Amino acid sequence: MTKPAGNAALVRLVSRRSALVALTTTLGCALVRRSETPPPARATPEGDQLIVHSSLELPSQHRLLEELRVLRSDLLQALALPASNEPIHVYLFESEREFDDFMRRNYPQFPSRRAFFVESDTKLAVFAFWGDRVAEDLRHETSHGYLHSVVRNIPLWLDEGIAEYFEVPRGTNGVNRPHVQQLLMLLMTQGRRPNMARLEAMTAVADMRQEDYAESWAWVQWLLHTSPERRTLLQQYLQSLRSQAVYAPLSAAVKAATPDAERLLCDHLFALAGPQTS
Ligand SMILES: [Zn+2]
Repeated sequence: MTKPAGNAALVRLVSRRSALVALTTTLGCALVRRSETPPPARATPEGDQLIVHSSLELPSQHRLLEELRVLRSDLLQALALPASNEPIHVYLFESEREFDDFMRRNYPQFPSRRAFFVESDTKLAVFAFWGDRVAEDLRHETSHGYLHSVVRNIPLWLDEGIAEYFEVPRGTNGVNRPHVQQLLMLLMTQGRRPNMARLEAMTAVADMRQEDYAESWAWVQWLLHTSPERRTLLQQYLQSLRSQAVYAPLSAAVKAATPDAERLLCDHLFALAGPQTS
């Protein structure tokens, strides 16, 4: 992504079930100053990479916060990434109405969503509210935060695939059952096969549909869980993103190592779904 000239901040927005938008705006820098609804107060101790600002009473040892701290080490370990101490600010609102009000005042051009991850030149921030799916939303958006604190130039599809992988509860190998069912349904009814190069061509929010999120998740899950060599391939690719301004697409490396990767991914999805689907 090319940074615009001038002093405008580049805000990178990742929203749940939409995709990623690059906005040339000063909103990221003006976030707190412009707010008529003050952001929630800090709820976590000094020293954490994750700085949670919560408008409801939340003990610093709350299970959800502990889970997000563990998510950091899980993500860094799985992807062989170094730790960063760049703060990730999590603004957790008590109600959906309070959240909507804050987002409307500060990010009026954003679509209506349950949660957001916003990256500006100066800040990584997650916005969410306390609802039925707050744990899933926070795992997803905070994964973007951890990832962006160490890998700045990650392609949209891979960014979302990794966040989808880590949004499911711990101890499930990142398996997202609805994604498996959707991808197999599309394969069997429409012949829609996985195609990483097609995902790589998507660079705008409007390009990505629900099935693209599902397929992005599937490639990440397959790379991480079907062989040590594939896991290493993904890890090395992320390392190349960290160190190079120009990089080859991951699909080329996958194709070179596994020419029939798309067929193997389909087989993997059938295996995840169980014998009744195949
Ligand atoms: Zn996302």
